[in-house]
This record gives sequence, C-alpha cells and structure tokens, in this order.
Amino acid sequence: MTKHYLIVGAGFSGAVLARELAERTGKHVTVIDERAHLAGNCHTRRDSVSGVMLHQYGPHIFHTNSGRVWEYANRHAKFYPFVNRVKAVTKRGVFTLPVNLLTINQFFNKTFRPDEAREFLTTLGDASISEPQNFEEQALKFIGRELYETFFHGYTKKQWGCEPRELPASVLKRLPVRFSYDDNYYADRHQGIPEEGYTAIVEKILAHPNISVRLHTAFAHEMIGHYAHTFYSGTIDGFFNHQLGRLGYRTMIFERVDADGDYQGNAVLNYPDTAVPYTRIHEHKHFAPWEEHAKTVAFREYSKETADGDAPFYPKNLPADRQRYQEYLQLAAHRKDVTFIGRLGTYRYLDMDTTIAAALTLADEYCRRR
Ligand code: UDP
Repeated sequence: MTKHYLIVGAGFSGAVLARELAERTGKHVTVIDERAHLAGNCHTRRDSVSGVMLHQYGPHIFHTNSGRVWEYANRHAKFYPFVNRVKAVTKRGVFTLPVNLLTINQFFNKTFRPDEAREFLTTLGDASISEPQNFEEQALKFIGRELYETFFHGYTKKQWGCEPRELPASVLKRLPVRFSYDDNYYADRHQGIPEEGYTAIVEKILAHPNISVRLHTAFAHEMIGHYAHTFYSGTIDGFFNHQLGRLGYRTMIFERVDADGDYQGNAVLNYPDTAVPYTRIHEHKHFAPWEEHAKTVAFREYSKETADGDAPFYPKNLPADRQRYQEYLQLAAHRKDVTFIGRLGTYRYLDMDTTIAAALTLADEYCRRR
C-alpha cells in the first residue's frame, strides 16, 4: 500500500483523524510524533515509585455534552465516573469552586437561598458594564470585585502572565457561577476518568492495520512531498518558521512532591493568591479513587511564557495574537497540501472532547469532499 496521509502529532486530534481516515478511506496513514510517547499533552503513565497513574502534563478530566464524543471515548476505554470538586486555598480560608452557593454563603458569612444569593450578587456586580469586553469585565459584571480579586485576579495573572483585562471574556466563561450547592467543576452531562489512562486510549485508537506510528520523529518540511495530504497538529506559527512572529502560548512547570498516604485530601487545590508562586497542586491518586496506593505523588503547577524548547500548552489569544493568527491563516490558505488541526494547529483553547469532536467533523468533511 502506498503511503497516503501524513499526520503530525499523536495527540487526540491526530489519533482520531488517523483512525477515521484509515477506516473510511482504506488508505495508509503515517502518524509521527517527536516525543517518545503517544497522547500529546494528555499522556498518562504509571509512576514507578508509587504505582499511581500520572497525568504527565497536568490533570485531564474527560467531560462532554456530546453523545457522539462520549460514545467514541467509551468505545476505546472503560471510564469510571469522576466528579472534579476543586477547592481554592485563599488568605480567608479554603472555599469550594466553581463559585457556588456554599462559596457565596461561606465567603460573606450568609445563609442565602438560591434566589437571595442571585439577588445579592446582582448588587455586587458592576451594572455599568453591559457587554463585557474582556475577562476582568466579565467577572466584575457578574460577581463583583471582592470575589473576583479573591478567586480570579491572582490565579489568572499567574496562569496567563498578563492582566486579566487583556484576556478574552471567553476564558472566564469556561467556569460557571452556580446558585445551588452543586460543586461539580464541570456542567457537562458526561464526565469520567479512563481506567487505564489516556495513553491507552490513544494506543487503541491507533491500533489499525492501515496506520503506522513513528515516535521520536520530528517533522521536516521535505516529508510533505511524499504524501497526498498532511494534517499538522503542531503550532501553526512553528510550521511557518515564525515568519510572521510568534503566537503566545503558556507552558507549565511541575514540581513533584512525594509523600505517604494522602497529601492534600483532594485531586486539585487552586491557589489564587499572588503571594503563592504556583497556581494549583494536583494529587493524582485522587483522580483514580478506585485504586489503592500507600504512597502518593502531587505536583505544584507553575505557569510561564513558552520559550524555545518548551512544550506549548495554552494559546494565549491576546488581541495581538489573534491578529497574527489571522495572518498565519492567510498563509495556510495557500497550502492546499496541509490542514492544520488541534489546539496548537488551530490556536484554540480546546478541551479533549472538543478536540475529538473537531477531528470527527473534519474527517466527515474531508471524506465527503474526496
Ligand atoms: N480561573 C481562576 N481561578 C481559579 C480557576 C480558574 O481565575 O481558581 C481562571 C483562570 O484564568 C483559568 C480560567 O479561569 O485559566 C479557566 O479555568 P479552567 O479551570 O477551565 O482552566 P484549565 O483547567 O483549562 O487550566
């Protein structure tokens, strides 16, 4: 069989697309990744010291409202139900997130019922903001200055390395404000953690006779000519050798803590205070409560600007980035032989489920057009 498709990057975008193309077109798909492992930033591996399943690039909780995506994920793994209940450690004590009725009542020392809390927050919100233009305005409009400063301002400054007013409102819209005691971090219908981690899922997705995978293999432009089409899930500015300048990405640094028993009593504790240099601590055994381990591993997570050699995690999407991305799109439009995919290729803050959905949709469109 002749080589047909090249897919650069063995994360969810690349893997799902590879499988769909292999099955639906019957052609051969080559997947390359410069890393030593599959699954991109969703990579999980079992820790040799504690036996805990580690989310190597930070916590990944699978959550989706899409029946198609949930069914797809469950076809490749057994999922255990998991509800992410994040806590925030602040100067005023520990509070439950996302901001919910318990957060509001404990923070303001009240005993509000839902409607009363809603009414109260209206009095705190800045009514002069009609159409929030950025993260900060979105927060000030809906929750007011005190909650914003305690829970969001410092965390966001640390996470993104800029003032929250420079960020789009869409970043804050990821988090709900609830007027009930529901402290499920996500509002999606389906939520869970795969029994054997995410790398096992990607391995299964890629296990198809028409797919070959080459790890430790960096992309080189000369490869493109050997294939009918290339799908590229690396950074779009990297593909064009940064010729129009660099797009902003944040990267993460993880500082490992080994301990016996239970280190912090929860999967994720956020530290919104700027006096603490890290954003959050995650203790990975709590992502798999069905397992038992005597030892534990936690990671303090720090965020910084991506420099050469760092793995990009989060597209920053500042106004200058968005402008530059549009210019890269114009370059990309001339490349009929390459399609850009995934969080880095399309410069979007995608979660795992939206990544899978986008890859399935792209496969639908691509196969329809052929
Ligand atoms: N955020 C915050 N305080 C928190 C949690 C989140 O200010 O305690 C803000 C922060 O800007 C973050 C954004 O909300 O980047 C989205 O949070 P989410 O938990 O969705 O981030 P992710 O899990 O993707 O890192």
